[in-house]
Amino acid sequence: MTVAVTVRVPAKVNVQLAVGPARPDGFHDLANVFLAVGLYDEVTATPADSLRITCSGPDADKVPLDRTNLAARAAELLAARYGLAPDVHLHITKDIPVAGGMAGGSADGAAALVACDALWGTGASRAELLDICAELGSDVPFSLVGGAALGTGRGEKLTPLEVGGTFHWVFAAADGGLSTPAVYREFDRLTPGAAAPEASPALLAALRAGDPVALAAAVTNDLQPAAMSLRPSLAETLGVGLAAGALASLVSGSGPTTAFLAEGEESARKIAEALTASGTCRSARVATSPAPGATVVSG
Ligand code: ATP
Repeated sequence: MTVAVTVRVPAKVNVQLAVGPARPDGFHDLANVFLAVGLYDEVTATPADSLRITCSGPDADKVPLDRTNLAARAAELLAARYGLAPDVHLHITKDIPVAGGMAGGSADGAAALVACDALWGTGASRAELLDICAELGSDVPFSLVGGAALGTGRGEKLTPLEVGGTFHWVFAAADGGLSTPAVYREFDRLTPGAAAPEASPALLAALRAGDPVALAAAVTNDLQPAAMSLRPSLAETLGVGLAAGALASLVSGSGPTTAFLAEGEESARKIAEALTASGTCRSARVATSPAPGATVVSG
């Protein structure tokens, strides 16, 4: 009998985030190019008398341990679908910055789903798992599939994308998070009459070619002005990374994590050192992309 299942799940960066006007349901239509990056959370599922969440890691105190945690919601949704009780202990080993625009909560939702599916032997199909992910949140399906993908609709309709090489990144975590809904509200205020979002052909070609210089010229994030309006100090962090040799610097998703695309491994290390020394961020980490989606690593 399986007594524990551990699933490893990556963070993401949006290399293009094109945002349309607010829809009547409050969501925004997006053209969202996701790239999974090798910063990982792990979720371990073990049988328990009732649903319980624990978390360890540097940001653990910022993670809700109640039923609002996306890992708990994932377990509940899967259990409800199969007529089971969601009696499971989910331990999250958290390495993805919390409320950092890197989809850490979404990652844990996808990981918990895969872990519970394996632990309970539910044998849900990939399509069913993706369906539950979309119910959990717009970024959750991508955490399941990983790699690179174009998300349309509110970001949850995924088309896998080809990536022709390894990209080297630096991610600078900021003190305190930014609320994603607050950033979208600021976007609506700053961008009346936003255009219908479309994926950039130049960006997709750069990913296919695995060409960091071409990718750097094509990255865009429509939420960046809104995130910077709420957190003006991000401009300093972005400037330090560029001065240290980054090919491109951008706010990751809704921020406040900032992302720096480097020419290679050595350059990424130098950018991370400069960011750490500058005191303009809480920490700077190197990571490569693409990375695989939620994967069972033991159990
Ligand atoms: P996104 O990039 O998808 O907008 P994010 O990376 O900015 O998300 P998360 O780390 O996912 O932000 O956290 C956003 C909020 O979600 C947190 O402040 C927290 O209250 C809540 N949350 C729910 N489940 C989790 C989880 N497992 N890990 C972290 N935060 C969670």
